[in-house]
Amino acid sequence: MAKQFACRDIGMECEFTARAETDEELMSQIKEHAKTAHNMAKIDAKTMKKMKAAIKSV
Ligand SMILES: [Zn+2]
Repeated sequence: MAKQFACRDIGMECEFTARAETDEELMSQIKEHAKTAHNMAKIDAKTMKKMKAAIKSV
Protein backbone atom coordinates (compact mmCIF):
# COMPACT_ATOMS: atom_id res chain seq x y z
CA MET A 1 0.00 0.00 0.00
CA ALA A 2 1.21 3.48 -0.85
CA LYS A 3 0.72 6.77 0.95
CA GLN A 4 -0.80 9.75 -0.73
CA PHE A 5 -1.12 13.41 0.10
CA ALA A 6 -2.88 16.17 -1.81
CA CYS A 7 -2.51 19.88 -1.09
CA ARG A 8 -6.24 20.22 -1.72
CA ASP A 9 -6.91 17.96 1.27
CA ILE A 10 -5.59 20.63 3.58
CA GLY A 11 -7.47 23.39 1.83
CA MET A 12 -4.70 24.63 -0.44
CA GLU A 13 -5.68 25.74 -3.91
CA CYS A 14 -3.06 23.60 -5.53
CA GLU A 15 -3.16 20.53 -7.75
CA PHE A 16 -0.13 18.90 -6.16
CA THR A 17 -0.32 15.32 -5.01
CA ALA A 18 2.50 13.25 -3.61
CA ARG A 19 2.68 9.49 -3.46
CA ALA A 20 5.28 7.31 -1.82
CA GLU A 21 5.73 3.96 -0.13
CA THR A 22 6.62 5.37 3.28
CA ASP A 23 5.65 8.36 5.42
CA GLU A 24 9.28 9.50 5.46
CA GLU A 25 9.52 9.56 1.68
CA LEU A 26 6.15 11.23 1.39
CA MET A 27 7.07 13.93 3.91
CA SER A 28 10.27 14.69 2.05
CA GLN A 29 8.30 15.15 -1.18
CA ILE A 30 5.80 17.37 0.61
CA LYS A 31 8.54 19.45 2.24
CA GLU A 32 10.24 19.98 -1.09
CA HIS A 33 6.95 21.00 -2.67
CA ALA A 34 6.03 23.31 0.20
CA LYS A 35 9.38 25.02 -0.13
CA THR A 36 9.36 25.46 -3.91
CA ALA A 37 5.65 25.99 -4.59
CA HIS A 38 4.38 27.60 -1.39
CA ASN A 39 7.51 29.36 -0.19
CA MET A 40 7.33 27.50 3.11
CA ALA A 41 10.93 26.86 4.07
CA LYS A 42 9.72 25.54 7.38
CA ILE A 43 6.43 23.86 8.03
CA ASP A 44 4.94 24.90 11.35
CA ALA A 45 3.65 22.33 13.81
CA LYS A 46 0.00 23.10 13.19
CA THR A 47 0.33 22.68 9.42
CA MET A 48 2.42 19.57 9.89
CA LYS A 49 -0.33 18.04 12.02
CA LYS A 50 -2.90 18.89 9.37
CA MET A 51 -0.72 17.34 6.67
CA LYS A 52 -0.16 14.15 8.62
CA ALA A 53 -3.89 13.86 9.22
CA ALA A 54 -4.51 14.27 5.49
CA ILE A 55 -2.20 11.43 4.45
CA LYS A 56 -4.16 8.55 2.98
CA SER A 57 -3.23 4.98 2.34
CA VAL A 58 -3.98 4.10 -1.25
ZN1 LIG B 1 0.79 22.65 -3.11
